[in-house]
Amino acid sequence: MNHIAVIGGGTMGRGIAYTAALAGFEVTLQDISEEALGRAREYIESLLEESKGKGYISLEQRDEANKNLSYTTQLKEAVFESDLVIEAALEIMDLKINLFKEIDEWAPVRTILATNTSTMSPTEIAASTKRADQCVAMHFFNPVHRMPLVEIIRGLDTSDDTVEVVKQVAKKMGKETVEVNEFPGFVTSRMNCLIGNEAMNMLMEGVATAEDIDKALKLGLNHPMGPLELADLVGLDSRLRNMEYLYHQLGEKYRPSPILVKYVKAKRLGRKSGRGFYDYITESKGKVK
Ligand code: NAD
Repeated sequence: MNHIAVIGGGTMGRGIAYTAALAGFEVTLQDISEEALGRAREYIESLLEESKGKGYISLEQRDEANKNLSYTTQLKEAVFESDLVIEAALEIMDLKINLFKEIDEWAPVRTILATNTSTMSPTEIAASTKRADQCVAMHFFNPVHRMPLVEIIRGLDTSDDTVEVVKQVAKKMGKETVEVNEFPGFVTSRMNCLIGNEAMNMLMEGVATAEDIDKALKLGLNHPMGPLELADLVGLDSRLRNMEYLYHQLGEKYRPSPILVKYVKAKRLGRKSGRGFYDYITESKGKVK
């Protein structure tokens, strides 16, 4: 296991690429958008610089990681020599199915295909390939370089060998793993989406301000981050897609909060757009309208 192709260079893809390159893998990061790829490259290079500046990594590690990384907009170029592909494109089932179908055509037969889906069925995604036994979900967390867990989800036909290999890759990336049987939202997203959605409904009902809801969960329930600041970090568009999928699969309990729907319509997507439940441009706190 030497070369990893990461597909999608957004919030998660760039973090997975950074962490894998630092762990010594050769990494090709692919995105269909030239602009997104440029932003990902900038993010990775500045994070490497910052980590070196703070003494978390050495000069040699920074240089080695930069050497391990390459960037492309061409899917075929990214995967044709890969040992493992980690897909981190948008949380849209048809998009993932089409991507896996295409990757299956171009990646070597030995290559394992993983999806970083937060909620969706690896079995359904794998069914578009001729190697369902080599397909699996590797669910990383945001920000990838700081969060210690990878949730590993077996599809119906995922082989033991595939699970073992991706566990070893995660371990080399410095991560702990948990193995989860396929079910919408797995363990973490199923739980986290409910907590976040309840916080959004409370905000909409005027139960407390965003700051106080977050503070209550941090100081009263020992959560390291408040659910609203976490949703802003995840990206409200990504969170809405997660909620819509879970609502469709699991029912009423997961109906997306109307305030989440409204914010996404207004393009208030959280940190990535500069404003969500909080305002990251003026650093002042956002108010609910
Ligand atoms: P994002 O919107 O930040 O980035 C998605 C990227 O995929 C964009 O740069 C886009 O240009 C690119 N893309 C779209 N279609 C593509 C295609 N056909 N080929 C290649 N690239 C394509 O999304 P994200 O938040 O990084 O989420 C990516 C995946 O990771 C989703 O499945 C999401 O559910 C999952 N996830 C997200 C988080 C989180 O906190 N944001 C956490 C865990 C898992």
